[in-house]
Amino acid sequence: MPPAATRLGSLFAGAGHQLYLVGGPVRDALMGRPVSDLDFTTDARPEQVLELVSGLASATWTTGIEFGTVGAQIGGQPCEITTFRADSYDRVSRNPVVEFGTDIASDLRRRDFTMNAMAVSVADRHFVDPYGGLADLARGLLRTPASPQESFGDDPLRMLRAARFVAQLGVTPAEPVTEAIRQLAGELGRITVERVQVELNKLIAGAYPRRGLELLVDTGLADVVLPELPALRMAADEHGQHKDVYAHTLQVLDQAIELEQREPGAEPDLVLRWAALLHDIGKPDTRRFTQGPGGADQVTFHHHEVVGARLTRARLKALKFPKDQIEDIARLVFLHLRFYGYGRGEWTDSAVRRYVTDAGPLLDRLHKLVRSDTTTRNKRKAALLAATYDDLEERIARLRQQEELDAIRPDLDGNEIMTILGLPPGPLVGKAYKYLLELRMERGPLPHDEAVRALRSWYAEQQ
Ligand code: ATP
Ligand code: MG
Repeated sequence: MPPAATRLGSLFAGAGHQLYLVGGPVRDALMGRPVSDLDFTTDARPEQVLELVSGLASATWTTGIEFGTVGAQIGGQPCEITTFRADSYDRVSRNPVVEFGTDIASDLRRRDFTMNAMAVSVADRHFVDPYGGLADLARGLLRTPASPQESFGDDPLRMLRAARFVAQLGVTPAEPVTEAIRQLAGELGRITVERVQVELNKLIAGAYPRRGLELLVDTGLADVVLPELPALRMAADEHGQHKDVYAHTLQVLDQAIELEQREPGAEPDLVLRWAALLHDIGKPDTRRFTQGPGGADQVTFHHHEVVGARLTRARLKALKFPKDQIEDIARLVFLHLRFYGYGRGEWTDSAVRRYVTDAGPLLDRLHKLVRSDTTTRNKRKAALLAATYDDLEERIARLRQQEELDAIRPDLDGNEIMTILGLPPGPLVGKAYKYLLELRMERGPLPHDEAVRALRSWYAEQQ
C-alpha cells in the first residue's frame, strides 16, 4: 500500500467513510508493473472529499468534480478520488447521467474491464473482485463486467481502451468483446477527438502496439480514427516482398521499436513510432501500374513521401496533436525515402550535408526510421542496405569532424596581423596567418598578448 494511500485511508476512516484503491493501480500492482497515479473510490461526496483532503494535499484540482472526481497531490503523489458511481445512460444523447452510489459493488460494475474492476479497501486491505478480474488477469483475458454490447453502447471509448490495454499489457480480448467491437465500431465516432488522441497515444507507446493496431484494423475501429492504416492493405509493395504495405508497415514499426529500445534507459518515442506507422500512407494514392524494363509488370509509388507527409499532417491535425509533434512526424515521413538516392555512396558532400541539415534535430530518429524500413527477406540485399547506411553515417561523422577542423581560426585575423606587424597586404601576411593557424592547432587557443608575442618573434626570425 503506497504511503499516500495509507495516509488518506486513516483520514477517511476517521471521518467514517470507506476508501478503496481501485482500477489501474490495483491491476498494475498485481501485474508487477510500476504504479504511477493512484485512483481511489469512496462513498464520501465530492464536497466532503475536497474538505477532507484539504489539510493533507499540497494541491487539489476539481476539473472533474461534476463527474465526482477530486484530484489531490499527496506527498508528491498524484491521486484521484472519485465518489462511487451508479450511472445510468441516457440512450438518446448517450451521455452518462451522473448518479452517485453507495456501495463498491455497483461502482465496479460500471467500469470498463474486469481487470480494472478490482479494488482494495485501504483501511483493512480487503480485496474486492466481484467480476473475476484477477482470474482474467492471470489468463491475460480482457472481459467486461456486464455484457460488452451494453458496455460499449454506453460508452464507445471503451472499445478503443480495449485496444490500448491489448497494446499496453499484452492481454487478449475475449471473443464476445471482439465481436461486440465489430458490431459497434462505428459508434466510436461519437467520442471527442481529445479522448481518442489520449488512448491512441497510450496504444502507440505500449509494449505491443502491433497487437493493438491489428485489433483496431480487424474490428473496423481504425476506419473511424485512423483510416489511412486499413487503406494500406490494398497496395502491394514495390519490392514484391509483402502481400501488402500494411504488413510491411507493421514490421517497420516493430523494427523501429527494436532500435529505439537498444539505447540504454530508452523510453517509448512517440514521434519515431508514429513516423514508422505513417511513413507509407502516401502509397495507396500514388500507386501506378507500369511496364518495367523488358516489359515486366511494375508498380510504382512516385512521390509517395510527399503525399504521405501531407496526409500525415492532415490526420494528426484532425486528432489535435500538438503542432511541433505534427511537424516532426511529417518531416520524418517526408525524408524517409531520400536515402534511396544515395545509391552505393554516390552523394556529394553537399548532398550529405543537406541530408543532415534537413533532418536537423530529427537525424537520430531518421537513422532509425530508414534502417527499419528494410523488410526484405533477401539477406544479402538487407545486409547491403545496412552497410550502405553505415557508410552514410560514417560520412556524416567524417564531414562533421572535418568541418569542426575547418572552423578553426588562428587567434589573430589578417587585419590584426597587418596592424601588429605594420605590413601591407601580401604573401607575408598569408605566411604569418598560416603560422598562427599551426600554432592554434598545436596549442589550442592562446591569450591575446601571448599570440601577439608569438607573432612578433616569428616575424623577427623572418628578417
Ligand atoms: P492508466 O492510468 O495506467 O492509463 P487506468 O486503468 O488507471 O490506466 P484510467 O483512465 O486512469 O485508466 O482510469 C481509471 C479507472 O477508471 C480504470 O481502471 C477503470 O476502472 C475506470 N475507467 C476509466 N475510463 C473508463 C471508461 N471509459 N468506462 C468505464 N470505466 C472507466
Ligand atoms: Mg489511472
